[in-house]
Amino acid sequence: MITRKTPAQIALMRKAGRVVAEMHAKCTEAARPGATTLDIDKVAREVIDRRGARSNFLGYHGFPAVICTSPNDVIVHGIPGDYRLEEGDILSIDCGAIIEGWHADAAITVPIGEVDAEARRLMDVTRRSLEDAITQIQAGNHLGDVGAAVEAVAVQAGFTVVREYVGHGIGTAMHEEPPVPNYGQPGKGVRIKEGYVLAIEPMVNQGKAETETLDDGWTVVTRDGSLSAHFEHTIAVTDHGPEVLTLP
Ligand code: MG
Ligand code: MG
Repeated sequence: MITRKTPAQIALMRKAGRVVAEMHAKCTEAARPGATTLDIDKVAREVIDRRGARSNFLGYHGFPAVICTSPNDVIVHGIPGDYRLEEGDILSIDCGAIIEGWHADAAITVPIGEVDAEARRLMDVTRRSLEDAITQIQAGNHLGDVGAAVEAVAVQAGFTVVREYVGHGIGTAMHEEPPVPNYGQPGKGVRIKEGYVLAIEPMVNQGKAETETLDDGWTVVTRDGSLSAHFEHTIAVTDHGPEVLTLP
C-alpha cells in the first residue's frame, strides 16, 4: 500500500530532511585525504545527536553505522571503517535521520581532493540524472517517467544505471512502497499522487551495470571494478509540484 502524507506529516519529514542535509554538509567538509570513513561516520553521529534526531541506518538489519560510505567502485551500502581516503578518490555518503517518527534519506558523492575529469563527469551526470528525475515527480505522472529520465541522462553520457537497487517510498519507515527503479518507460508504472513522498536515488556506473556483494553481506561493488556514483533526495509530491525535503 502506498500511503499519502498530510502537509503536517510532510513538515516533520522536512525537519528530518534538514538534519540529513546538515549531515551531508559536515561529512563533505570532513571527507579529505587522510580521513577514515569511520571519522566521517563520527561527524554524522554528532549532527544526529545535536539535532535530537534518531538514526534510521544504525541497527537496520544489523547495520553498524549511521551513514553508508562507498568509495570508488563501491556502489552503495559501504560500512564506515578504517579505509583511509586518498586524493583522487570519490566517496558516496548516504545519510538518514528520523524526527518524531518521520524519516528522511539522501545521498551525495563527493571528490576527495582533486579528482580526474572522468570521475568528475560521472558525479556531474549522476547528479543531473537525479535533477531531471525530480522534475517528473508530479501528480498524474508515472514512475516510468521518473526512471526513464534517470536512464536517459546516464545512457546519453555513456554510463550505465544499476538495476538491482532502486529508490522507494518513505514515511514512518525508511523503505515503503512503491519501489522506484532508475529505469523505465514513460507513461508506465505506478501513477504518482499528491501526498506521495519518494526517495529517488540513481546509482550510475562508469563501466558495466553489473553488481556484486562482498563477503561482509553489505558492500555492493561494480563487478568490473569501475567507478560508481550515487545521489539521492527525499521528495514530496505537493499541489505545487515536487518539493525536495532533504535540502539545507
Ligand atoms: Mg534510499
Ligand atoms: Mg539513502
